[in-house]
Amino acid sequence: MPVVRHHLRCLDCQNEASASLELSCAECGGLFEIEYPRLPEGGMRIPLTALPLGQGGTPTISFDWPDARRLRLELKLEHLSPTGSFKDRGAAMLVSAAWSAGSSAFVEDSSGNAGASLAAYAAAARMSAEIFVPADAPQAKQAQITAVGGNIHAVDGDREAVADAAEQYSRRQGIPYLSHNRSPYFSEGMKQAAEEIAEHGLPDAIVLPVGNGSLLIGLYRGFRELIQLDRIERMPRLYAIQSMNISPVAAAFRNHEPGDPQPTIADGIAVSKPPRLAQMLEAVRESGGTASVVSEIEIESARRTIAQRGLYVEPTSAVPLAALKRLQERNLIADDERVLVPLTGSGLKSPPIR
Ligand SMILES: [Zn+2]
Repeated sequence: MPVVRHHLRCLDCQNEASASLELSCAECGGLFEIEYPRLPEGGMRIPLTALPLGQGGTPTISFDWPDARRLRLELKLEHLSPTGSFKDRGAAMLVSAAWSAGSSAFVEDSSGNAGASLAAYAAAARMSAEIFVPADAPQAKQAQITAVGGNIHAVDGDREAVADAAEQYSRRQGIPYLSHNRSPYFSEGMKQAAEEIAEHGLPDAIVLPVGNGSLLIGLYRGFRELIQLDRIERMPRLYAIQSMNISPVAAAFRNHEPGDPQPTIADGIAVSKPPRLAQMLEAVRESGGTASVVSEIEIESARRTIAQRGLYVEPTSAVPLAALKRLQERNLIADDERVLVPLTGSGLKSPPIR
């Protein structure tokens, strides 16, 4: 896979490191972002040519949301990606990075969608994937990981326990731990979504569910780059929405202490300590957006509503839809503004609607 010249830069101490699968800065332990030595000619910068399974290029449709009719709502159908979730953009890039580094296997931890996606791209690259998942991850997601040849390691406990188990296994077995939530390659793969959105006509705002924030960070980096390239003149406002049961981003945005995490049906964003929280807050603040929460009942209701209009998505995808009415009532989104919501994951992999 062709490699575009790039290096890693520590987000905390600005230390530079050469391109590798390293997850943290040797100087201070901070996380990396990807940096490119020179401006590209015209196109957006991506570090690697990603493995092609058909990711990207998802359709955008206009949609009439009953709670917020005055908005001009558009849905980007990311759930039509090859493995049924938006994670494919990031997984393609991260697995390509591991392949380029000469790895034949990797360890990863995921609540489901990312694991399924990484396992699929591992299969495409003929690599073996050891995927650590919470024991209560949706069965269909676990079945999908197994079907494409990933080895499942189910762990009792929260997401942190799952990540710890993956990291320990990686050290014991000498297999690289990719950590899509810490590696900068994953969110870098999400940047392309910004370019597609801009080409379709830049919306005023994007409302999206956030857990570890790879799409939020990828969109922010992507739009920032398109502004540098003079391809767009402004950044859409980015609204990060969480379940009120687990809302570390919304709490940090308001300088509150997060409450104790409670279970949520939005399993894709059940993350109590996102490693890239500071970058997520920067994306929300610098874009002029906000971070907000919705209740479990509102999520279920929004999922039912969109299903009754023909789109079957996972509960996580209903989270931003559930927030639209209140964003409008708070005058954060004006009448007639164009608002885009990415539908992040298919409903086929989640528990059915009750
Ligand atoms: Zn550092």
